Amino acid sequence: METILDITNLSKTYKSAGKTLSVLDDINFNIETGSANAIVGPSGSGKTTLLGLCAGLDRATLGSVVLNGVNLNNLSEDKRAQVRNQFVGFIFQNFQLLPTLTALENVMVPLELRGEKNIRARALDLLDKVGLASRGHHYPTQLSGGEQQRVSIARAFSNAPKILFADEPTGNLDAETGEKVQKLLFDLNKDAGTTLILVTHDLELAGKTQRILRIKGGKLVADEKTAIAQ
Ligand code: ADP
Repeated sequence: METILDITNLSKTYKSAGKTLSVLDDINFNIETGSANAIVGPSGSGKTTLLGLCAGLDRATLGSVVLNGVNLNNLSEDKRAQVRNQFVGFIFQNFQLLPTLTALENVMVPLELRGEKNIRARALDLLDKVGLASRGHHYPTQLSGGEQQRVSIARAFSNAPKILFADEPTGNLDAETGEKVQKLLFDLNKDAGTTLILVTHDLELAGKTQRILRIKGGKLVADEKTAIAQ
């Protein structure tokens, strides 16, 4: 079994208005390469914070995050951005598309950052995969929530990530679009072997992964294989 993500004694505190808030407390787990995993737990329990630390969007207060053999704690913000650009995909809960760029241009950004060729054609191909080839020239405000989510998925797929983090990937979608998005994610996991880590409230979606990590009050309170992993 190969490990793609190793989390050791991970803690995160925020300081605000002179007070220290402990958001994650001594979290330990590792993630098998190519597996699909869900993180569940009540609102405010620290799931989004945990996902951001695992993906190198933010830095831990204590403990370590080793992603694909790279210890993210030792890296500057710029270096962590490089790591993300090389092999990490991230789907944000609120999409985080750049408002001044079209759908196509949003998908082109990571390809451009990687200095790749034929980026327009490749971005168009990615938009086609999520069923939005005809919407490439639209700006985010001209797209529905579900369409924006699919653009953000095309962008997250653009660097053929080894690991894909998704924060409530179906949370803002109607049932039919949610099904399509789930299929895109699980197809990527099966066909390309991309490791998936999903934060979700949807226990049915969590049950389609192999493993559920449950967070409560900033602690990892359960770590279970699902029926499909048995
Ligand atoms: P979840 O994703 O489980 O809803 P979050 O990780 O978003 O939980 O938040 C966990 C806790 O951390 C919440 O109490 C939230 O208010 C707090 N928090 C998150 N980000 C920050 C921040 N940048 N500064 C201060 N507190 C924060």
